[in-house]
Amino acid sequence: MNLLHSINDFNEAKQVIVGGVNSPVRAFKSVGGTPPFIFKGKGAYLYDVDGNAYIDFVQSWGPLIFGHCDGDIEKSVLEAVQKGLSFGAPTELETTLAKEIISVYEGIEKIRLVNSGTEATMSAIRLARAYSGKDDIIKFDGCYHGHSDSLLMHAGSGCATFGVCSSPGVPKALSQHTLIAKYNDIDSVRACFEASKNIGCVIIEPIAGNMGLVPAKIEFLQALRELCNQKGAVLIFDEVMSGFRASLNGVQGYCEIVPDLVTFGKVIGGGMPLAAFGGSDTIMRLLSPLGGVYQAGTLSGNPIAVSAGIASVCKIKQNPQIYPHLTSLAQRLTQGFQDAARMHDIPLQTCVRGSMFGFFFQKDPVYNFQDAQKSDTQLFALFHQKMLERGVYLACSQFETGFICTPMDIYIIDRAIQAAQESFEAIKQGA
Ligand SMILES: *Cc1c(COP(=O)(O)O)cnc(C)c1O
Repeated sequence: MNLLHSINDFNEAKQVIVGGVNSPVRAFKSVGGTPPFIFKGKGAYLYDVDGNAYIDFVQSWGPLIFGHCDGDIEKSVLEAVQKGLSFGAPTELETTLAKEIISVYEGIEKIRLVNSGTEATMSAIRLARAYSGKDDIIKFDGCYHGHSDSLLMHAGSGCATFGVCSSPGVPKALSQHTLIAKYNDIDSVRACFEASKNIGCVIIEPIAGNMGLVPAKIEFLQALRELCNQKGAVLIFDEVMSGFRASLNGVQGYCEIVPDLVTFGKVIGGGMPLAAFGGSDTIMRLLSPLGGVYQAGTLSGNPIAVSAGIASVCKIKQNPQIYPHLTSLAQRLTQGFQDAARMHDIPLQTCVRGSMFGFFFQKDPVYNFQDAQKSDTQLFALFHQKMLERGVYLACSQFETGFICTPMDIYIIDRAIQAAQESFEAIKQGA
């Protein structure tokens, strides 16, 4: 495969952009090689600057459930562009999108639109701390909620204790306010509540997609809900990835648990920078201008982004059959990967939630980040490289989720399975 133009582009980018990329995972550090520079996308495919085509299982890391250049989303964006890019004043569009989201999510009465998932979780936590009157938070090892200071924490020597900053530059003092629990382990959450009497909120990806795909067990989420009620802590479901992806209403498509606050992003923007957080009126009304909790944004509710979001969410609601369809494609893909791996004596764990899929190179089921980390990341890197050479674009880390989009069909999926068979074969032959 020829990547000459990408190699040149990457070198040039590195002269002026840190590491050549504007979000670190794009640099392909954990799989090696040069990231293809993208020229355009269309439907299920990406095209790079050297003219290579790839089946795209990344879909901009989740937002593009209808694939690249969906006609309806494109049309609504173009119409909006002609009316002005930004006003910094309210529009009817924002109300429309808020209503669309509220109508499918139980427990959400009020919404606020923001620009990124990071902003949504950061604001939700501020609000939760204000509502509960308590400063400490619990997060789960392996869950990612964007890059705000309080959330860039991981478990140090063990879970169920105060976190360790996962980035230089985060004040150590903040680690005194973030406790880290173990995913799918309610005892570790109880231990956190023992360790601090000041826990104001628990934030969780109810379908974790940032340690690979690891869904929470329903009983675990139920116990978490009860524990938060008991302790007077706000329960935040971070559905930035899983919302409108795992099902129409994210984890609520799998259980009836109602969190206090929910964060959204990715799909609700249809590919534009847009995110949101919402919850009951009682909590949300603490937000300014009604309450004192400050939160703002010059471009929040941007009309172009919101138009893309409305087109995306409305198209989803008008076509609810996409979820069983995308699920069956995801299952076909992971089953195909598994069969191919078994033929080559490679242990592989797979998982599907709606249009999200994950796979781990290991023999045991994965319930938490510790389990996930036992995966063979070197084998993943090789697999990633072989698949890329065969025109299949997978997320460039073992600890990410893959995405199916509606322009995909069984022929595309079967081509990806064929590529997986060839890749395993090449790996086994040391080629
Ligand atoms: C992507 C993601 C975020 C961060 O969103 P950005 O828009 O990248 O800031 C937060 N939470 C979850 C669960 C995510 O998947």
